[in-house]
Amino acid sequence: MSLKARAQEKVERAGISNYSFDQDVLVMCGHRYTIEVCECGEPECDGVRLRKNATAIGRVLQ
Ligand SMILES: [Zn+2]
Repeated sequence: MSLKARAQEKVERAGISNYSFDQDVLVMCGHRYTIEVCECGEPECDGVRLRKNATAIGRVLQ
């Protein structure tokens, strides 16, 4: 499964349906999240980590 597909699964498991993808960036609630591989090794870890991108969509236009 691709990293993107795992991220999508993670978001849906969290009960969030209001999201979209901009290429490999997850866009959720007006924020952009970079999808990264997580290697923390926690048993419940799904191997994907969402890092909040500092450049929010709204700020680009300011
Ligand atoms: Zn992890």
